[in-house]
Amino acid sequence: MIYLDHAASSPVRPEALQAMWPYLTGEFGNPSSHHALGDSASRALADARARLATWFGVRPAEVTFTSGGTEAINLAIKGIALGAPRGRHIVTTPIEHEATLESVDFLRRVHGFEVSYVPVDATGRVDLAALAALVRPDTSLVTVMAANNEVGTIQNCAAIGAIVHAAGSVLHVDAVQAAGWLDVTPDALGADAVSLSGHKVGAPKGIGALAARSRLRIEPLLHGGGQERGRRSGTENVAFAVALATAVGLLSESAADAPAGGASESAGVALLRDHLIEGIETTVPGAVVTGSREHRLPSIASFLFPGTSGEAVLLGLEERGVVSSSGSACAAGSDEPSPVLLALGVSPQDAQTAVRFSLSPSSTLDEVNAAVAATADAVAALTQLR
Ligand code: PLP
Repeated sequence: MIYLDHAASSPVRPEALQAMWPYLTGEFGNPSSHHALGDSASRALADARARLATWFGVRPAEVTFTSGGTEAINLAIKGIALGAPRGRHIVTTPIEHEATLESVDFLRRVHGFEVSYVPVDATGRVDLAALAALVRPDTSLVTVMAANNEVGTIQNCAAIGAIVHAAGSVLHVDAVQAAGWLDVTPDALGADAVSLSGHKVGAPKGIGALAARSRLRIEPLLHGGGQERGRRSGTENVAFAVALATAVGLLSESAADAPAGGASESAGVALLRDHLIEGIETTVPGAVVTGSREHRLPSIASFLFPGTSGEAVLLGLEERGVVSSSGSACAAGSDEPSPVLLALGVSPQDAQTAVRFSLSPSSTLDEVNAAVAATADAVAALTQLR
């Protein structure tokens, strides 16, 4: 099987598995316990936090471990909005992950916040002038993704951060897809808070982190024993935190010049992505690339195959040994066209024909060539059926 769905989930790196194993077995103590086993767990957690903080370019106290990207995003958005309400206005984009869209909608429904959606262009880039016009003195938070999970478009977060800060507001960035490909330190993104998910970077599902400036008052979502400096109660998942720190350490180790928070295998993967895009454009009549050609994650190649159905293309690909996705794990299987593609101006009919291939540093040229051939074959079979 050729797995080209790494944006949905990637395997755990063997080094991360090995590093976490002791904390699931012999070193199983609760980090809050006052005995040797507890101390050992507590030291492991502190060490993992310190390594993650270095990677993020923040202080250890500014890293909160969470149960994943979704929880980090919920904590950032609800926690910042409710923690220090400058006002009751939030700005986001229409192409965010559901974790963001549902969190801001919760604040609207339950807490009476007003939500503004800054438009994006046909490639998925935020309209900076429109953003500047939307941010107001009562905007408590602006939340955007560093890179989109369906089409791979990268935002100009530094420019967004400058606009947000000039208006005196706070920026949260969902860096779940960007991590491993771009420098996702809060400094590089111009952000006050950045969310990360473990299972996109070689750690297990069910661990993530929020890097948030300690000057921000964050209202916790989970109340209890006051772990994570009160930002997230609950016995810490020591083993998974160790795995996450190990996995992000491997990202920045992969090239000598890799920046903190960055990755370095990007250039090689970007070449494979371009080969995939070129292969599909030359062999599949009518194929349309979605998202930005210039500002695109190295890992994502996304297409429309007008006249087919995306679900049927995916089935055809799987029959030919290639696993990919329509783009959004949550939208998969639903009959609704992707809101992201609609926001980019794609028609509802064409949006139903979307297919996303997502690569990892372990992807190979042979796999990409096989995916191109399988796509050409699967799409030809479907269009001949019509
Ligand atoms: N944000 C983006 C951009 C994502 O792609 C995802 C997962 O696909 C998430 C957030 C949610 O992360 P998690 O699966 O760790 O909850």
